Amino acid sequence: MVAVHGSEPTSFFKVGGQRNLLPSGSHWLSLSRIVQLEKSVRSKDVKLLGALFSAMAVANKDFMGAMDERPSSARYETLIFDLDDTLYPLSSGLAHACRLNIESYMLEKLAIDPTVVPELCTRLYKSHGTTMAGLWAEGYYFDHDDFHKYVHGRLPYHLLRPDPVLRSLLQSMPQPKYIFTNADKIHADVVLKKLGVEDLFKGILCFETFNSHCAVAKERRQTGEEVVKLDTSVPVVCKPTVACMQETIQLLKINPSKTLYFDDSARNIFGGKTAGLHTVLVGSLITCEGADHTIASIHNVKESIPEIWAEPHFFDELRVSRKVAVETIA
Ligand SMILES: [Mg+2]
Repeated sequence: MVAVHGSEPTSFFKVGGQRNLLPSGSHWLSLSRIVQLEKSVRSKDVKLLGALFSAMAVANKDFMGAMDERPSSARYETLIFDLDDTLYPLSSGLAHACRLNIESYMLEKLAIDPTVVPELCTRLYKSHGTTMAGLWAEGYYFDHDDFHKYVHGRLPYHLLRPDPVLRSLLQSMPQPKYIFTNADKIHADVVLKKLGVEDLFKGILCFETFNSHCAVAKERRQTGEEVVKLDTSVPVVCKPTVACMQETIQLLKINPSKTLYFDDSARNIFGGKTAGLHTVLVGSLITCEGADHTIASIHNVKESIPEIWAEPHFFDELRVSRKVAVETIA
């Protein structure tokens, strides 16, 4: 009698009252062959059958070892993408226009000395993640929604075109995908729509996500309530702070070690890595601290990180084959 028990993680077979061990998944390769062999040698030499099983086990072990060297389909469960200068190139001109709009806002709305605006804009961006966060921290009072409308509402969005290559890449990625941006929701929606990929993301994490008090004030205004004064003691939360990264991880309920995070900012990449994410620096030929991968363009992702497309069907079939419950041949 030969009995093959296919339960994980180990397969067993019995020959002549002895129980022998085969590497996990062996029956996937050999069940039919086992039956054939058992019938042919049943009355002859049990030792011969044992030797045959041993040889099959060695061959099977080599096969399983080779498979283990292949990229696992479960390596990345979630993909997170920055938006600006990550899903479209810096050369689009939007980033430059955004910078000019911020400087203009500082001049017109905050009445900052024009001779210090460029330097202040850069310094605050570097020290606080965004110039807006820096202005708020430095004590300038303004309405965040007004800032976004002024800075983003004037952008030359017509420079962005539908990107069928990007769309095809995103569509082919099997993992759930999220946008993670310091910009406001309206800007994210417009950019994604201009690129023709607005339906390919499971969610958008943006300014309103991490600064709920501003979002609440905005909603109140929209319902006709009197202007709500924002609490100046509450800082703006944004990338690249680890707190923002960790909040993203908690909100999405993701395992950071199974998550791939794309961003064009070296500071954000470092912040993401510090929070435990796998990272991809986009739009550069030179890597940075904390980057696991560096790609010149999001269009190069398939050549650079094939693990994202790790043949899930192959592994699914293998898992099904291991779940042959119990098969007994008398
Ligand atoms: Mg960016």
